[in-house]
Amino acid sequence: MSVTQTEFLPFHRAMIEEDDINSVVQVLRSGWLTTGAGAKRFESEFARYVGTANAVAVSSCTAALHLALAAIRLKEGDEVILPTMTFSSTGQVVLYFKGRPILVDCEADSFQADPDAIERAITPRTRAIIAVHFAGSPARMDALLDIARRHKLTLIEDAAHALPTRYKGKMIGAIGDITCFSFYATKTLTTGEGGMVTTEDPEVANRVRMLSLHGISKDAYARYTAAGTWRYEILDLGYKYNMTDIQAALGLSQLAKCDLMRERRERIANRYTEALSSLGAYELPRATPGTQHAWHLYAIKLKPDVLTLSRDRVIEELKQRGIGTSVHFIPLHTHPYYQQNLGYRIGQFPNAEKHFEGAISLPLFPGMTAEDTDRVIEALHELAVRHRR
Ligand SMILES: *Cc1c(COP(=O)(O)O)cnc(C)c1O
Repeated sequence: MSVTQTEFLPFHRAMIEEDDINSVVQVLRSGWLTTGAGAKRFESEFARYVGTANAVAVSSCTAALHLALAAIRLKEGDEVILPTMTFSSTGQVVLYFKGRPILVDCEADSFQADPDAIERAITPRTRAIIAVHFAGSPARMDALLDIARRHKLTLIEDAAHALPTRYKGKMIGAIGDITCFSFYATKTLTTGEGGMVTTEDPEVANRVRMLSLHGISKDAYARYTAAGTWRYEILDLGYKYNMTDIQAALGLSQLAKCDLMRERRERIANRYTEALSSLGAYELPRATPGTQHAWHLYAIKLKPDVLTLSRDRVIEELKQRGIGTSVHFIPLHTHPYYQQNLGYRIGQFPNAEKHFEGAISLPLFPGMTAEDTDRVIEALHELAVRHRR
C-alpha cells in the first residue's frame, strides 16, 4: 500500500479548547503566576471530584511518587514492591532513597501486576507497594488492600492512567493510602506537566505539601501576599515540586470536562473492540465488571500464533499508513540500568516479556473522529487478513 495522502493521525492529541485557553490567559493577566489561589482551587475541586479529603498539586506524577515515599520516610535498604510493567518513574523514585525496587510479573492474561506475586515478594524489609492502574483499568484493589493491611505496608497508587477510574463505586484517588496522578501532556487530563497527590491522612498531606516547597513551613506559601510575612522556617529537606497557577488554570478547565472526555474515549474504545474482535488476530483490552475504565490507553496484543508479522513490523506498517502508535511499557527489568545496578535479567518475568513482545497502544483521544478510528481499524483489518499464518 502506498503512503496515504491523509494527515498523520497521532497517537495522542490533547483536547485544548477555547475555555482552556481563556482560563490560562486569565491567570497571565492576573499578575500572579506561580502557586496561589488557582492551585488551591484546583486542589479542592480535584479532591471533591475523586471524593477524598486532601489533594496536593505538584509538578509531575514522578514528583508525587517521590513525595509519597518521602512522606512515609523511606530509608536506605527499604524495599518497595512494584510491577515491572510500568514507566520509569515508578521504580526510579525508590532509588532516590537508595531503596530497592522489588519488581513483580504481570498476570498471565493481563498487563496488571499479579497480587499473588506481590504477596510472595514481601520480606521484613518491605515498606510499601506501588500499584499501577495500567491503561486506566483499576488494579485488583481488594486483594492489594488486604495484602497491605495484613503485612502493615503502605499502599501507594501510581494513578498516572487512572483519571477517572472507578473501582466498586469509589474513584481511584479515594481508596489506597496515597495516590499519585499525572497531568503530563498525553494523559487524560493535562496541565502540560503536573501531578497530584491525594490522601485521607491529613499528616501525610501536610508533609507532602511542606516537602513540595523546599521543606519550609506552610505559611511561607503566602509570604508574598498581603496576608503573608517574610519569615519562614526550613523544617526538612524539601524539593521544588509545586504547581503553578498557570498549570492549575488549565487543570481546572480540563477537570470540568474530565467525564465528557472519558465518554468520548470509551466510545472509540468500544468501536475498536466491536470491529477488531472478530479478526481473532489481536487480544483486546476490556473493562473489568464492577469498574469504570478511564480508557487512557487501548493496548492490544498481537497473537503470534495467528499473525506472521512482528510487533515492530505492525507498528511500521501503521506508520506507513499515517497512523501513530506507542508501546506500554518496556518492562523495567529489561533496561540496562536495572540489569547492571540491580541484577535483574531477561527471562525473570515471562508474562511481562510476552505481553511486551506483542503490545501496541492504538491512537485514543477525545478529539478522534469516527473516520480516524475507522482508518486504524481498516489498517489492522488489512494486516490481519494479509499476514495470517
Ligand atoms: C506518565 C507516567 C508517569 C509519569 O508521570 P509524569 O507526570 O510525567 O511524571 C508515571 N507512571 C506511569 C504509569 C505513567 O504512565
